[in-house]
Amino acid sequence: MIDSALLGLPEFDPGSVWLVGAGPGDPGLLSALALHALARADVVAYDALVDPRILRLARPGATLDHAGKRGGRPSPSQPDISARLIRLAQAGNRVLRLKGGDPCVFGRGGEEALALAYAGIPFRIVPGITAGIGGPAYAGIPVTHRDTNSAVTFLTGHNSDVDVPGGLDWDAIARGAPVLVLYMASRHLMKISTRLLEAGRRSDEPIAIISKATTPAQSVLVSTLGEIARAAVDLQVPAIVVIGRVVDLRAALDWVGVLRRQELGKPL
Ligand code: SAH
Repeated sequence: MIDSALLGLPEFDPGSVWLVGAGPGDPGLLSALALHALARADVVAYDALVDPRILRLARPGATLDHAGKRGGRPSPSQPDISARLIRLAQAGNRVLRLKGGDPCVFGRGGEEALALAYAGIPFRIVPGITAGIGGPAYAGIPVTHRDTNSAVTFLTGHNSDVDVPGGLDWDAIARGAPVLVLYMASRHLMKISTRLLEAGRRSDEPIAIISKATTPAQSVLVSTLGEIARAAVDLQVPAIVVIGRVVDLRAALDWVGVLRRQELGKPL
């Protein structure tokens, strides 16, 4: 494994909780702190989006506890999850709360951390690579590029409302940054694209939909805002959506595609 002493990694104290980001899928994107915590945790409370291979890195004898929320299926409520983390820590366990991507990017890590803070439980937050950065990187799409954009907006295309998230000012979002990265957008993508066009974004603006990013099942669909607003596409989830000129860079930077073609022995 890793040399925690050499790296100066901290003790994982009994009775504490570490909120750790597992990254978007590829186990190679785990941080040294995440590996260190997996090797020491007594309980690993993990989300639905955490790759099963990552769970196999847990210390033998550790309890694996599925605490994730899954759309449409009965799952523990957020207060239940936080209460469970507190109980496990109070019982003297080293509790690893393992979340997909980064715990605090659309991951409710802040809510869990607040519950721990209010309960007086020592905790640590270990950032992970968020899907909105890792996904585009594995699709050959830099989220910023000097010639294209000096700002990028990360947003969620879904909230507890059934409709396109009402709390967002789509006109301001359309004007705000040349590149938009959308989480949880698959269900409302047609409506969101329409709103962005109404707000002045160009119909020929490229859009990439990156499904199951950084996993062996990764697939990327490239289209335009106009096309997506016109016709519903059948998407694999989870998917991250990138809108903006940076998507054009994929034509030259699709390194995953290059590797896959090499593996198949096909000429490039
Ligand atoms: N905390 C997570 C995000 C949780 S919200 C993070 O930082 O990445 C869940 C959304 O993340 C999904 O609806 C999808 O938009 C995105 N997502 C997570 N993993 C993904 C993956 N492997 N490929 C594509 N999108 C992913």
